[in-house]
Amino acid sequence: MLTQNLGYPRIGINRELKKACEKYWAGGLDENQLQEIGSQERKKNWQVQKEAGVDLIPCNDFSFYDHVQDISFMLDVIPARFRSLEGKLSALDLYFAMCRGYQKDNLDVTAMEMTKWFDTNYHYIVPEFVKNQSFKLRNKKIIEEFLECKKNGVIDPKPVIVGPISFLLLGKEKESDFHRIDLIDSLTDVYIEFLKELSGYGCKYIQIDEPFLVTDLEDQVKETYSRVYRRIRNEIPDLKIILATYFDDLGKNLILAVDLPVYALHIDLIRGENQLENVLNTIPKDMILSLGIVDGRNIWKNNFETSLKLIDIAIQNHGFKKVWLAPSCSLLHCPYDLALETNEDSLPKEVKSWMAFAKQKLKELITLKKLKSIKENVYNELFTDLVFNAKLHAEKKISPLINNPKVENKLQRLLKNQAKRNSEFQIRIEKQDAKYGFGILPTTTIGSFPQTKEIRGKRSDFKKGEISEEEYESFIKSEIKNAVQWQENIGLDVLVHGEFERNDMVEYFGEQLDGFAFTENGWVQSYGSRGVKPPIIFGDVSRSKPMTVKWSQYAQSLTDKKMKGMLTGPITILQWSFVRNDQPRMLTAFQIADALREEVLDLEKAGIDIIQIDEPALREGLPLKQSRWEKYLNWAVKAFRICSLGLKDETQVHTHMCYSEFNDIIKAIADMDADVISIETSRSQMELLEVFSDFEYPNQIGPGVYDIHSPRISSVSEMKDLLEKASEIITIKNLWVNPDCGLKTRQWDEVKPALENMVKAAQMIRKEKVLNNHITIN
Ligand code: GLN
Ligand code: ZN
Repeated sequence: MLTQNLGYPRIGINRELKKACEKYWAGGLDENQLQEIGSQERKKNWQVQKEAGVDLIPCNDFSFYDHVQDISFMLDVIPARFRSLEGKLSALDLYFAMCRGYQKDNLDVTAMEMTKWFDTNYHYIVPEFVKNQSFKLRNKKIIEEFLECKKNGVIDPKPVIVGPISFLLLGKEKESDFHRIDLIDSLTDVYIEFLKELSGYGCKYIQIDEPFLVTDLEDQVKETYSRVYRRIRNEIPDLKIILATYFDDLGKNLILAVDLPVYALHIDLIRGENQLENVLNTIPKDMILSLGIVDGRNIWKNNFETSLKLIDIAIQNHGFKKVWLAPSCSLLHCPYDLALETNEDSLPKEVKSWMAFAKQKLKELITLKKLKSIKENVYNELFTDLVFNAKLHAEKKISPLINNPKVENKLQRLLKNQAKRNSEFQIRIEKQDAKYGFGILPTTTIGSFPQTKEIRGKRSDFKKGEISEEEYESFIKSEIKNAVQWQENIGLDVLVHGEFERNDMVEYFGEQLDGFAFTENGWVQSYGSRGVKPPIIFGDVSRSKPMTVKWSQYAQSLTDKKMKGMLTGPITILQWSFVRNDQPRMLTAFQIADALREEVLDLEKAGIDIIQIDEPALREGLPLKQSRWEKYLNWAVKAFRICSLGLKDETQVHTHMCYSEFNDIIKAIADMDADVISIETSRSQMELLEVFSDFEYPNQIGPGVYDIHSPRISSVSEMKDLLEKASEIITIKNLWVNPDCGLKTRQWDEVKPALENMVKAAQMIRKEKVLNNHITIN
């Protein structure tokens, strides 16, 4: 029985690679220095895995930016717009230019698109394919890293690469009239070329990731799988292919997968916990089965008792030597090392004792293997591990830190509740119109204003204890005051306080809710050099005191205009955290929702009667298989609706969504029944609105007219055009005017003119409408 690792984090235990890349981009390091840091990081990773005792250690899991982009680059999948840079830049700089765009020497080449890696928060660079796409080996990264790994004392390094079919499926066609899967034969030629070369260098194992095998596949793609893997097998019969699937069970593709002529099949027993029996019933006797038994995507300790049961079943059915152990997926999605966490205020000792990061997970893997392979008489030390692990999980189950009986009672009531507002939208909106009288095209923003260096500095001073709470708060107040005054001056209708007091839209709430803990070094790569440090939801979530009322109330006291309260929604909080795994995600979402409901009611009581609950991550939670969408959407939508239970009809609930596909979940979005939704669209020139011509969105909607990702300032007439375009599809009385998203990443000198133009654009249309149609405006 072997253990294998599928991939290790690569940003550096102290984010060395992130810092080095950023320094290199700023001109503070030369290429050799950056390459040296890359090689140091690889070395450290291999060392840790060797010391842990992992049998099959991955290589080529390293990347300076993204592992999908590495393949695009290696195979010369370089979009035409970058070709002009080819002679000008070094290979590394060209690679980075594709990831980050290039704006220098009068050249302006836009970056490649980025999107989420399956249902994780990791973003990859989307390969761009053209009709007559050709592939060739432009570099030999995979071979070089194999040789480097060997040189570093790993006996049989296992290169890791995304398989040819998943690689194509991850990409996009940039020309019409063809399907990217049509490119498979010429792509396979090049895969075979480097696989042969690897084999020639003595490479025995290769891990080929085909995560698309857990998704719904068209028949044509299924056939392609059989054909491609037969070809690879025939051409390089000696190379042992480990076909890795993860993030869900194989489902309907099980027979397809076990029929592929590969040496080993890896399955995810964390996300696909119920597939073991079916796999054991169908897998050929001589194929190795790699059990993804240690959660590669969450931070909880493995429950040995549960794992050993599954391992036993596998061994009994498939034989000791044919079963391997592994993490469920690459450990890329986990922080490095729990030992770095020493702050017991943010991460209580007891909670920490339940957790495992990448390094600890490797150890769990080895312990599980030993528990199954060492003879009874040397069992002692391991036996202690086993007993300790069982005791820990038993105690965790009843820990008062996790269990809050009050939350449990409320939950029972919520489960039965339909979670509907008191009246239908039509009744509510009439009352709201009568109360607020905004007239047509009301203007607002999404919530945050620029988080300036000064603000971040003050917050960090406050956290370090260098300034008092009083001083910090009065600073935030002055920022709010300026922002409110400015919004009033330019004539916005619904104002915001600016979210200056928030470090992050999830962390801010997590820090004030019970059931959350935080790490100091628990960084996970989000994209390129960017990392996130997700909060940890370890127990029942509840709210002990108001979280936002003070700031909203203060902001409202400064103006006669309407101030919008601003909350992060339950699904977004859930999606962007490490979530407890001892109860269904739905229940955790309902607990968060119920805490937010209390906040919403407190805001209403304090006179804040327009409240926005952001759900930008609603779509991210969608299961990979469409057959499970409905169930997820039902509870996700319900969680959102729980937040506004018991509000007066006059209280106007807004939500906000951005940067995802909305078309196929538009019905669920409508079911959320927010009175107003603001939604990002300006990047696609209102293309998104097409969906609203087929589906009449029942409530009010503000399509974004200001692309907040660009420093460019749109003119009044550009924004007016967008609004006119929108008004052709959405009745003007349902239209709001707002930017695409929050403005925290922008500069004030961009935000000010852009929002002034936005307000002017709305005002111009209002005037025209009054003149032409005699619509009266209050
Ligand atoms: N209210 C948040 C803000 O304005 C929304 C951010 C988001 O959608 N990601 O920053
Ligand atoms: Zn947004």
